[in-house]
Amino acid sequence: MIESRCGILCGECSYQGQTGCKGCVNIEKPFWGERCPVKSCAETKGHEHCGQCSDFPCDLLNQFAYDEKQGDNGKRLEQCKCWREK
Ligand code: SF4
Ligand code: SF4
Repeated sequence: MIESRCGILCGECSYQGQTGCKGCVNIEKPFWGERCPVKSCAETKGHEHCGQCSDFPCDLLNQFAYDEKQGDNGKRLEQCKCWREK
């Protein structure tokens, strides 16, 4: 079962309780903005998660994964690889 398009584990996200977010794959738009470019891109391409994409890991996804404030030092990329191998 995947939890997000980008590889974030929503079950481990500290915002989930605070915001009542139902998780990336169950929502239309994220709690933090009108749209998430990663979520939109993956869904437009028909991918369950970015690990299924031939461009993985693209610049946009890398930018999110290694963002100084909101990034996770690439953890989500590893998660996408895990999901891909299942
Ligand atoms: S950053 Fe985007 S793709 Fe990743 S969990 Fe949040 S809404 Fe989903
Ligand atoms: S890896 Fe990049 S191009 Fe591929 S679906 Fe994800 S955001 Fe889009």
